[in-house]
Parts: sequence; C-alpha cells; structure tokens
Amino acid sequence: MKSDDEIKKENPELYKVAREGGTEAPFTSELLKVKDDGSFACAVCGQKLFMSDAKFDSGTGWPSFDKAIEGSVKEIIDDSFGMHRTETVCSNCGSHLGHVFNDGPTNTGKRYCMNGVCLEFNKEDK
Ligand SMILES: [Zn+2]
Repeated sequence: MKSDDEIKKENPELYKVAREGGTEAPFTSELLKVKDDGSFACAVCGQKLFMSDAKFDSGTGWPSFDKAIEGSVKEIIDDSFGMHRTETVCSNCGSHLGHVFNDGPTNTGKRYCMNGVCLEFNKEDK
C-alpha cells in the first residue's frame, strides 16, 4: 500500500480527496463515461469497491452507484458543514470516497456519490 507521502507526490488530487476529505469538481471524472463491464477499486489500496452493473447516471457529475460490494465500503455519520450526511470510506485503508444517500432511483434505494479520483476502473470480460 502507498504511503501518504507517495500518494501526495504521485497524485495530489487523490491525496486531497482520499486523505483530507475533499471533493473533486463535478463533471471532471473520466469514470463518468465508463460503460464497460468491470469493477471499480480503491485508488489507494486496490480493494474492489463497486461492480460496473451498480453504476448509474445520477446527473450530479460524480460517478454514482446503487450498491457497494459487501464489506468493502464503511459508512460513517458526517455532521460537518451543518449537513447530516453519511460519509463512505474504503474498509481496507480508510480512504475517503464520497457520501451515500438514501434517494437512489433503483430498488436498493441507495446512491453512492463517489469521487472518481478515488476509484480505479478495471475492465473485465463477462
Ligand atoms: Zn482502500
């Protein structure tokens, strides 16, 4: 696993989001366009977090998913900025990923609103 210093040097944007809880600018993630089959892994430690069939277009400008791979994403109540939200972090390395909301359009009712910079797409054949 990469150290904080390594992340900071290789990818300052990832450091800002994953280690300092920042948020990337909307509509900037390359992953918004991804429609291939595969999985999305934590950009820091490589743990698989989401499968491509859970991805949907939320219109928010951030990659969104209706379901996380079981046990891969930890939820933490976040009352910062005067809002009541649920923060999501990688269960393996603790990197900040984004937030999860209960207004998803599919039958899971969940909307995982992720920072694309924290995710790495791995294409897989079905
Ligand atoms: Zn991780």
